[in-house]
Amino acid sequence: MAFYIDYLNRKMDNSDELETFRDRLSTIGEEGNRLWVYPKRPKGKYFNRRSVIAYLLLLFLFLAPFLKIKGDQMLLFNIIERKFIIFGVIFWPQDFYLFVLSMITLIVFIVLFTVIYGRLFCGWVCPQTIFMEFVYRQIEYLIEGNNSKQRKLDDRDWDLDKIGRKSLKHIIFFAISVMTIITFLAYILGADQVLRMVSQGPAENWAGFTALVAFSGVHYFVFAKFREQVCIIVCPYGRLQGVLLDHNSIQVSYDYKRGEPRGKHNPLEERQKAGKGDCIECGSCEVVCPTGIDIRNGSQMECINCTACMDACNAIMTRINKPRGLIRYASERTIAEGTPLKVNARVIFYSVILTGLLVLVAYLFTIRTDVEATILRSYGSMYQEYDSIHYSNIYTIQVVNKTRRELPIRLVLDKPRGEIKMMGDSLLVKKGQLGEATFLVVLRKDRIKSSNTKVEFKIMSGSREIEEVKSTFVGPDVLDKPHKDKD
Ligand code: SF4
Ligand code: SF4
Repeated sequence: MAFYIDYLNRKMDNSDELETFRDRLSTIGEEGNRLWVYPKRPKGKYFNRRSVIAYLLLLFLFLAPFLKIKGDQMLLFNIIERKFIIFGVIFWPQDFYLFVLSMITLIVFIVLFTVIYGRLFCGWVCPQTIFMEFVYRQIEYLIEGNNSKQRKLDDRDWDLDKIGRKSLKHIIFFAISVMTIITFLAYILGADQVLRMVSQGPAENWAGFTALVAFSGVHYFVFAKFREQVCIIVCPYGRLQGVLLDHNSIQVSYDYKRGEPRGKHNPLEERQKAGKGDCIECGSCEVVCPTGIDIRNGSQMECINCTACMDACNAIMTRINKPRGLIRYASERTIAEGTPLKVNARVIFYSVILTGLLVLVAYLFTIRTDVEATILRSYGSMYQEYDSIHYSNIYTIQVVNKTRRELPIRLVLDKPRGEIKMMGDSLLVKKGQLGEATFLVVLRKDRIKSSNTKVEFKIMSGSREIEEVKSTFVGPDVLDKPHKDKD
C-alpha cells in the first residue's frame, strides 16, 4: 500500500483525499448505519476453481463425522470427555501434549503461510467464506436473483411475492443452520449420540434441543445478517494481517502502474493520446466485492482475497482486448518494482521453526503407544507389617487402553523378589477406557535395604509385555529394622 500511496502522491499530490477510504469501514454509512452489501454473482476461472474446492470441503465436513473406521467414528473431538479420534486413531488426555504441539505447529504454519501467501486461506478454504459465498449467497441468488434484483426487492414495499421469497429464503437458511449444527455436534458429542437425540425428540432431550436451537440461531444470524462483518470486525486472523503481511506477501492486487491514470473507455488511439492507463473505471471489480471495497485503493484489511474482482476485471480486459491480470495475485513489491518474490529473513526463520516442530510432532506420533500404565504408591501411605517376616505397601495401577479390544492386565514384580496381591478382581480394561486397580506388594523384611527400596514391575497382557514401570517401596530405616530373618 505504501508504494501505491507514494506513487499516487507523486502523481496527484493530494494524500488526504487518497486516504479518505480509510476514515470508515466500507459497510458503515456516514450516519453510522450498516450499508448492506449486494455483491454481483461472480463468474470466471477463479470462481470455478474455488467452487470445486468449496463443495469438496463441504462434502467432507458433512460426511466425516458419520463415517466409521473399525467401528469408531472417523473424526471425533469430544472435548467434554477429552476423547479425540483422528482418522480412526484414538487420542486420550494422556496424548494431550501431541494436541498442544500440533496446535503450535498449526499456528506457526498459518503465520508462515500468511507471510508468503497473504490471505489465500480466507478466500479459498475459510469456513466463513465457503458457507457465505457457496451456500447462503448462492441460495439468495436463486431465490431473489442477482444483486440489482435483490436491491430492488429490498427497496420495494411488502407484497405477496416479497413475503414468499423472503420467507422461503430464511426457512432454507435456518434449515441449513440446523443441519450444520447437528454436524458440528456430531463432531463433538459423537454421531450416534446426536442422531439418537434427534430421533428421540425434544421431550426427552430438552437440554440438547435447546442447545441445538440456540447454536443454530447464532449460525443463522451470522450468515443471514452479520455476514462480512465477521471478516471485518470479528475474525482475529483478519485483525492480524497488518502485522503478518509485508511488501513481499502475495495478495490480490491492483496493478496501479498499468491501470492508472484510469479513465472511461474510448477508442484505443484516443486513450493512448490522453495518456490513460488500462483501468476503464467500469466498476466491475467493486460491484462483485463481498466486503464492499474497491481493490484499486490498494491492500485493505477488509479484503478477504476472494478473487471475485480478479475474475470481473479479467472479463473486462478480455472484452476491451487488453491483457488479463490488471487485478491479479502479486506482491506490492512485484507491482512497484517488477522484481520477483523474495525470500526474506522472516520467512527463513519461520521455516526453520516450522520444520523443527513438524519433525518433533512426527517423532512424538511415532513413539506414541497404544497402552499407557502408571503405578503410584497410595498417597500418604506408609509401610504395613504384613506378618512377622514381611512388610507390605499399597499401590494403585491405572491403565489407559487406546486399542479397540479388551485388555486383561497382569502384574509381575520383576525386582526385588516378592509377591503381588491384587485387591479385588483382576484388572480387565475395556477398549478405549481407563482401568484402575489397587494391589499390595509384599516383600520380605530382609530384602529391604533402605527406607526407599526400588521396585520394578512388568505390566503384561497375556504373554505380551506392555510396559516396565519403576516405583519405590517404603520401609523402616534399616537401622531401626526389628528382624533379620533368613530365607
Ligand atoms: S474491473 Fe478492472 S477496469 Fe473495471 S474498474 Fe476495476 S480495475 Fe478498472
Ligand atoms: S477486493 Fe477483490 S479479493 Fe478483496 S474481497 Fe473484494 S472482491 Fe474479494
